[in-house]
Amino acid sequence: MSDSVKLNPRLKTAVCCFHQSLPLDTNWVTYLFELGNDSFEVTARRCQDPECRAHYEPMRGYFGARHGEHPTFGTAGAPICNKHTEHWYPMFFRWDEHKLVAECPIDGCGAKLDASQYRHLAI
Ligand SMILES: [Zn+2]
Ligand SMILES: [Zn+2]
Repeated sequence: MSDSVKLNPRLKTAVCCFHQSLPLDTNWVTYLFELGNDSFEVTARRCQDPECRAHYEPMRGYFGARHGEHPTFGTAGAPICNKHTEHWYPMFFRWDEHKLVAECPIDGCGAKLDASQYRHLAI
């Protein structure tokens, strides 16, 4: 993603779309995916549960992946922030007090939704 885009600092508290009580690992991991003759890298944060395939990346949102497998993007169907002309950003989940909310990953945007309807994703 572009270096000029600043990320929402609250992204640090993002949780897994399935394990909503678990914050995502603070380390970013880079995967190289291959699609036919194409390959592309995605740098994302993953769920702390070792059995879980969920990751979050600000341009692609939540997706499921393991090394060497084709990723499944759009796994969680999380809401999208469409306030930006250059790109639509899939929002991340976090806890705001005791409420699950979805927030835009871009700093200064401020888009935030009640995400209680996404609780059914939780394992
Ligand atoms: Zn998880
Ligand atoms: Zn936004």
